[in-house]
Amino acid sequence: MDRMNHLESEITELRQLLNVKEKELNSLRKELIQQYQTNVIQQTDNQHQQFEMQMNKSLYGDQLPKWAIERYSRQILLSDIGVKGQEKICTAKVLVVGAGGLGCPAAMYLAGAGVGEIGIVDYDTVELTNIHRQILHGECDQNMSKAESAAQSLRSINSRITVTPYSVQLSPTNAIEIISKYDIVLDCTDNVPTRYLLNDACLTTKKPLISGSALKMEGQLTIYGYRAENNPNEKDSAYRSPCYRCVFPTPPAADAVGSCSSNGVCGPVTGIIGSLQALEAIKCIVGHTHEQMLAGRLLLFDGDDSTFGIARLRPRSEQCAVCSDQPTITRLIDYEVFCKAQANEKDLDLNILPSHSRMSALELAQKLSSVKNHDARHLLVDVRNEAEFNMCRIDGAVNRPMDRLQGKKFQELLDEVRDYEQVTFVCRRGNDSQVVAKKVLDVIGEGHVNRVNDLNGGLHAWAKYVDANFPVY
Ligand SMILES: [Zn+2]
Repeated sequence: MDRMNHLESEITELRQLLNVKEKELNSLRKELIQQYQTNVIQQTDNQHQQFEMQMNKSLYGDQLPKWAIERYSRQILLSDIGVKGQEKICTAKVLVVGAGGLGCPAAMYLAGAGVGEIGIVDYDTVELTNIHRQILHGECDQNMSKAESAAQSLRSINSRITVTPYSVQLSPTNAIEIISKYDIVLDCTDNVPTRYLLNDACLTTKKPLISGSALKMEGQLTIYGYRAENNPNEKDSAYRSPCYRCVFPTPPAADAVGSCSSNGVCGPVTGIIGSLQALEAIKCIVGHTHEQMLAGRLLLFDGDDSTFGIARLRPRSEQCAVCSDQPTITRLIDYEVFCKAQANEKDLDLNILPSHSRMSALELAQKLSSVKNHDARHLLVDVRNEAEFNMCRIDGAVNRPMDRLQGKKFQELLDEVRDYEQVTFVCRRGNDSQVVAKKVLDVIGEGHVNRVNDLNGGLHAWAKYVDANFPVY
């Protein structure tokens, strides 16, 4: 164990040193260019051009250096890539937004392929629940910034590239500045406000946006806002793919969008979509045309029966608020207000029930032990879905999943509530339990308000104050 701990701390120190040296090298490069630019003000344009050529040659040149040929030979052999393609990859700059289930595999393949500069944005820290799918992070990275953890892993995959972590939440104030430094952007996020923000920021800066999503057993992928004008291989240089707003002009209702933390996601599904995002980025870098890439087409993956499908997206909209010729939105807006949703996964605490209808975890524990002692008539209703209920529950709770409480099922619940002296609703965090309790009270009448309550703070509070062995997920 000692040896392991020693090695771990030694590796951390070396990574930090590598980070410092990389920064040093970058600033030296910048200095060299700046020095040159100052010196050549008096010189002719021709000389300037010669210097630029030399600078490029010393980086990746018209012939790849020995190390690059050896390192990337397996992909250089492909006619789709070749030496020219590899040179483009080595000088490409790709921004990966989100170092989660999609961002990790995507960034790994981009680093492996030798993409010269990779930026990785994530405001969050690594949690144990992430590791089943977020393969750049390990157990020892818990509580560390995801962007930093991902950057360290990427540097260990390829020390020849520059990796820049951004431990910030992408926002209307920083998006343009960060995105402007890159050629291509990968949307590996999981919320609607950030999708609109990335779309608008990428259109403003004219960068293609390779957008992936994965939830439960399904995944989707497409390229928004691709412009053919910079690709000499394109026959139709006027082609532009639709943007996210062309396809979704108005945001969906906040409660219609699922999240990995409440709906779950299968790790390999995020791996498949993230890998495909890297593939589309590499194709875009080496100059594939829009017909070969997923521009104007949406790839759909169904992990349940292992099938891929393609849906043709409507073409660029003449009425699009951002990418049409007469845009109505010309600068970044407040996307959380526009979408009526948060741009991060942090849960909000609802306050629907009056405070006297909310039971603390300790009160509930007391109530449950008195039920055992005095056989009082108390019903504990867990409103989480069946999979969650099967994973962990408080002894004696019955499962009445919230999403099934309509029509007959809801009537049956009302009958149960009427049968008991007291009913306590419980869920993971104490929000859904309030929603159901309120729905029940609305029907059976305010007169019963003292008989119906919920567990304040949900099972998280139960784990914190009553049962330390109760799993927090
Ligand atoms: Zn559009």
